[in-house]
Amino acid sequence: MPSLSNLSPEQLADLRSTLRDEYAALKARGLKLDMTRGKPASDQLDLAAEMLALPGNRDTTAEDGTDARNYGNLQGLPETRALFAPVLGAPPDQIVVANNSSLALMHDVLVYALLKGVPGGERPWSKQEPITILCPVPGYDRHFALCEGFGIRMIPVPMTGEGPDMAVVEEAVADPSVKGIWCVPQYSNPSGETYSDETVRRLAAMTTAAPDFRILWDNAYVVHHLADARPALLNILETCAGAGHADRPIVFASTSKVTLAGAGLALLAASPANVKWYLAQSGRRSIGPDKLNQLRHVRFLRDAAGIDAHMERHRALIAPKFAAVEEAFAARLDGWDVARWSRPLGGYFITLDVTDGTAAQVVRLAGEAGIALTPAGATHPYGQDPHDRTLRIAPTFPSLDAVRKAAEAVALCTLLAAAEAR
Ligand code: PMP
Repeated sequence: MPSLSNLSPEQLADLRSTLRDEYAALKARGLKLDMTRGKPASDQLDLAAEMLALPGNRDTTAEDGTDARNYGNLQGLPETRALFAPVLGAPPDQIVVANNSSLALMHDVLVYALLKGVPGGERPWSKQEPITILCPVPGYDRHFALCEGFGIRMIPVPMTGEGPDMAVVEEAVADPSVKGIWCVPQYSNPSGETYSDETVRRLAAMTTAAPDFRILWDNAYVVHHLADARPALLNILETCAGAGHADRPIVFASTSKVTLAGAGLALLAASPANVKWYLAQSGRRSIGPDKLNQLRHVRFLRDAAGIDAHMERHRALIAPKFAAVEEAFAARLDGWDVARWSRPLGGYFITLDVTDGTAAQVVRLAGEAGIALTPAGATHPYGQDPHDRTLRIAPTFPSLDAVRKAAEAVALCTLLAAAEAR
């Protein structure tokens, strides 16, 4: 198959006309498909159906003898912290279990840092403005929205396939206004890559001009495997502690995509000083979390093996959807030299890099044919992708059949936009 750049003007004109006909036929089908957000599908939520009956109205006493129905236990129940210790790579006393939404924890950590400062810092971040957070790109739009909402400057750092480009990071942190970096270290949103050992070691060891620098380690996809091959991620808390920077990382995770996206548990793990700091702030915000939900999770998931087994059930439901996207992209786009896409071993996304300058057009074409995609640019701070190249494909929510149709349509739009742009 010829690549687009090798076509004669006549061949290119023929191709455009064929693709336009195909696109017109696609539009005429009147599809209505949504590939915008990385949400679990209902059959995934059904996997946790049993949980809704737990812990049962006679099972409300926690291991420490407290009544889970009552106020208190701000840090979370001991048994819940023990359950997630292997997931977070931290001892239970360095873990906080909160209500649903780890994004809310990230929000609160930023607010507390801005208003109060963090251990090791002399003043609140807001008193040191302007401050900056490094944003590996492509990245998670809600991280960027938090920064933008609080007036925190963002510097994009390219991802390399092994995490952020560490030469860029090391140079940037020589500026004392740079206070942190967002990281989705395992099966990154959206590239799917996992940080290499070298990346983690350099993040832990680098000299930062800011003494109160924080790695915001959002390990949202830590147990979300799609394959038998499981890239190992170094333990950030131990690696930083070993490098003499124990207070540098704050680890986040949640069970949003393990049990119930709207009714899971949010998790935070950090050094003893950071945990103490976090609890001092959050203790003013709340008298304690929903511990019935914590017991519910302990009863349902039981232990690390229980979590693994549950995640295998998710994998059985969603891996075919990822495979359908891969097949549709390969069938339509292989050989044309107009796009590249990730083949993630885990997580919730596929990154589709289309021909430079055409991502917004692909989203528009797809939208007009009834396929909603995440807006072009969403993977970059301020919604600005300088190359207009990167699209985030979220295959989990629609049915398998819908995913296949949507991916075929996106591939057609990708090829059409590239052919039109030549
Ligand atoms: N972090 C990342 C990287 C995510 O992709 C998501 C969900 N899309 C979240 C956090 C949100 O997590 P939670 O439901 O725990 O707020």
